[in-house]
Amino acid sequence: MREGCLIVVSGPSGTGKGTVCSALLKKHPEIAYSISATTRKPRTGEQDGVNYYFKEKAVFEEMIRKGELLEWAEVYGNYYGTPLAPIREKLEQGKDILLEIDTQGALNVMEKFPEGVYIFILPPSLEELEKRIRGRATDAEESIKRRLESAVGEIKLAEKYQYAVVNESVDDTVDAVAGILKAEHYRSKRCTSVINAICKSKGE
Ligand code: 5GP
Repeated sequence: MREGCLIVVSGPSGTGKGTVCSALLKKHPEIAYSISATTRKPRTGEQDGVNYYFKEKAVFEEMIRKGELLEWAEVYGNYYGTPLAPIREKLEQGKDILLEIDTQGALNVMEKFPEGVYIFILPPSLEELEKRIRGRATDAEESIKRRLESAVGEIKLAEKYQYAVVNESVDDTVDAVAGILKAEHYRSKRCTSVINAICKSKGE
């Protein structure tokens, strides 16, 4: 059985990574999605257990204490974290699982899972990023400013990822990410169980 891939996608807020991830999952329903826990309040249309697990701060802190999170970070004044159990389960089943997390979280996961696939989604330019954030109009002005300020710092970290894709158009970006995953599946290190089984059957 092929081993599942842990896929980590990051990028500054407004870069379109959420749209890219949703479109990728729609096109490739075989990829599981890691639903994060957060203390942020739901935005209009967001559902508990679908977009996030929305938690009170005390509950989130309890999850940290119990070691239930693969990683967690404070982003724009709220906690965000990745529940560990579903990731273990999917990878053990040989399934790919996608995490859409911020750069702090991704750098932590890189240390724990160097065999993961790390993809950074870049905006075409900073001007375009601002346009997209303002166009979304779901955040207060103060939050917009905070997100723009942190974007440059996050973009500097793009080189730590194995792949960086400029999101000019959602369709092209989804195709690029799907192409990356296809190639990753053929890495010899992901086929060790098949290689070992063949060698064993030949007594080597
Ligand atoms: P938003 O509030 O716009 O949904 O997300 C804000 C930021 O938090 C985004 O950059 C998003 O990728 C990140 N984020 C979402 N879930 C997680 C998580 O589980 N861990 C970490 N470290 N960041 C997350």
